[in-house]
Amino acid sequence: MSSYSERARAILPGGVNSPVRAWNGVGGEPVPIAEAHGSRIVDADGREMIDLVASWGPAILGHAKPEVVAAVQAAAAKGLSFGATTEAEVELAEIIRDRYAPAERVRLVSTGTEATMTAIRLARAATGRTRIVKFAGCYHGHSDALLVAAGSGLATAGVPDSAGVTPGAAQDTLVLPYGDEAALTDAFAEHGAEIAGVIVEAAPANMGVIQPPAGFNRLISTLCRNEGAVMILDEVLTGFRAGPAGCWGIERDHDLAAGLDPWTPDLVTFGKVIGGGLPVAALGGRRDLMEQLAPLGPVYQAGTLSGNPVAVAAGLATMRLLDDDVHAHVARIASSLADGVSGALTERGITHAVGRAGTLFSVFLGLDEAPVTFDEVSRQDTAAFARLFHALRREGVALPPSAYEAWFVSAAHSVNDVRHIVSTVAHWADAEVAA
Ligand code: PMP
Repeated sequence: MSSYSERARAILPGGVNSPVRAWNGVGGEPVPIAEAHGSRIVDADGREMIDLVASWGPAILGHAKPEVVAAVQAAAAKGLSFGATTEAEVELAEIIRDRYAPAERVRLVSTGTEATMTAIRLARAATGRTRIVKFAGCYHGHSDALLVAAGSGLATAGVPDSAGVTPGAAQDTLVLPYGDEAALTDAFAEHGAEIAGVIVEAAPANMGVIQPPAGFNRLISTLCRNEGAVMILDEVLTGFRAGPAGCWGIERDHDLAAGLDPWTPDLVTFGKVIGGGLPVAALGGRRDLMEQLAPLGPVYQAGTLSGNPVAVAAGLATMRLLDDDVHAHVARIASSLADGVSGALTERGITHAVGRAGTLFSVFLGLDEAPVTFDEVSRQDTAAFARLFHALRREGVALPPSAYEAWFVSAAHSVNDVRHIVSTVAHWADAEVAA
């Protein structure tokens, strides 16, 4: 064990401040990170690696993008926090609305957890109902009502729920298999009058990446509208990353091309990319719902650091730079990496499937078809993933340390980065076949 790990474990539970960082999904000792630039991270031992974690999503422009760092420095020099509204906050909220029409009104918060927690409270207040529908394997942060059959670190650890969540907090959460139209329709037929809302990841990306089955999000929207419930679309991870307007924008474009009226979520949650690496998240949605938030309405929500000027500066600089060209580059890199890795595995007879949603993807080893439900995901070969993780690490590629996470690319990844990753995967696959 390195001295870093010993020190970390002596003060931080598990040596970390967020569970997945402990590498419990792959084994071994994580080395702390010292710095990161562009597509590379450098650990405290001075090893440089191509990074496919991107801080779990925010670093879509690459790490320490000079314009973003300069914006943060300029904002910091003017004061770190005021506890009062700034012009920059207004502008960030306007950008979100202008690119993502269902967000008619926006409230900035600091974490995705706060955004989804507030969305649930708002749905319950607006409907006067208590029950919330969520899908197994979808992760919406760590508020009590949503820590039921969640993905992310809980899936990695093999614990579907958390200790310390009271039966009372969880009993109003109905968990259904993702993508199961019949289960959803039945749930509304049985409990429709009690369902305040349905929360769903726009594309699940916390059990690996799952492509939403065609029409599934639309069905949620239709059922919610017909039954008087609130549809909460969680785009914390996918928003402004899977595509220029998140996964909703991708489905809207398909609907328009097919001559269909696009469906619209009632509430949407954002995080990650909109903070560019600093703590900014947001709840957006229908004006009449959003105006039930305090101070206009009776639903309380607040935050000492909400809309923090330094954090907002990072988000604003990131969103301004994140134009269609940048998205097109991210899309090309993601496709060539996903296709390259999959091709290398196929050529060597390694059973696998690639889950894709816009520019997000992950590789499921041991599955021959892209999974949809958490049960299907959990049949993947996590031991093989751990071997792949460590083989790539040795060759200077940092994969997310869990088979249940997306592989995050950024605008800073180059064609050479992709080539190196694909050839390293190919070497690993050769060794697997030989073993
Ligand atoms: N929702 C989704 C879809 C997420 O991926 C995450 C974080 N990975 C959250 C909510 C919670 O966000 P945070 O970690 O900022 O609380």
